[in-house]
Amino acid sequence: MRAGSFTESVVAEIAPHLPPLPHCRAALVEGMSLTGGPALNPEVIETPRAVAARCAVATLHADGSAAHAVRVRAPRRVRYRVEIPSGGPRASAANCCRRSRLRGAFLALGWVSRPERSPHLEIPVRDAAAAAILMGDLAALEVAGSVRMRRHRPLVTVRTALAVGAALSCIGAQGGRLVYEEGRVVRDVRADVNRNLNAETANLRRTVHAAVRQLDAVARLSADPIRWNTLPPAIREAGLLRRTHPDAALAMLAQTAGISRPAMAGRLHRLVEAGSAGQPPRRPGSRW
Ligand SMILES: [Zn+2]
Repeated sequence: MRAGSFTESVVAEIAPHLPPLPHCRAALVEGMSLTGGPALNPEVIETPRAVAARCAVATLHADGSAAHAVRVRAPRRVRYRVEIPSGGPRASAANCCRRSRLRGAFLALGWVSRPERSPHLEIPVRDAAAAAILMGDLAALEVAGSVRMRRHRPLVTVRTALAVGAALSCIGAQGGRLVYEEGRVVRDVRADVNRNLNAETANLRRTVHAAVRQLDAVARLSADPIRWNTLPPAIREAGLLRRTHPDAALAMLAQTAGISRPAMAGRLHRLVEAGSAGQPPRRPGSRW
């Protein structure tokens, strides 16, 4: 996890809050144990996050357990291990405990993408049974989730913008949710603006290119009085209009000439053809 990541700020937001009720505290600790460790022992919490280990210890202390965190050197990074003493309170089947369990699991090992990226929240779990428990919690809280496998371990994932926002609220990260929704709006607006800008830029470029070709044709044709005078008057008029209004849109030229847009487009098209007739011929002998 990179320093200053969005995940880190969500973890920092939810870690200090101990659930006020014993059943919710039990659910929190249970959720943390679902993410598992190398031993995959349900009575042991293993997490790479010191802040999560501290939260587990504080939660267990609140119910009179003499728990403590042990720093373990794992192959690639440091982990913290907290043993869950038996005989503590039990989680209930109510939604308060479902939220608390999800919160514990996220706290121990969850990850959520930055708000401006595509929506993705995931919690690696120790086995299929753990995945089923968290999926049940998500379903009860009406958050759409799914399970996929990564390196032979299940991963509970939430992958729509709506569901990630709801999941953040469920685990108690209201501040995180606000930041997330803001980022989502920025992302959507930015995508919209870019789409419109690209379309407008393309239109503008087409218009400018066409005007340049037309002005070119007028310059070439009017430089030769004989050719200029043999042009049909309507084409000459269109050419002069273009020369007087080099930046004008087609619609404006059409309006000035008192004709329809397609008619003006046709005249300008024939003007360009006439202009390139004496040049390397595109369509020799073409008629206007
Ligand atoms: Zn509860």
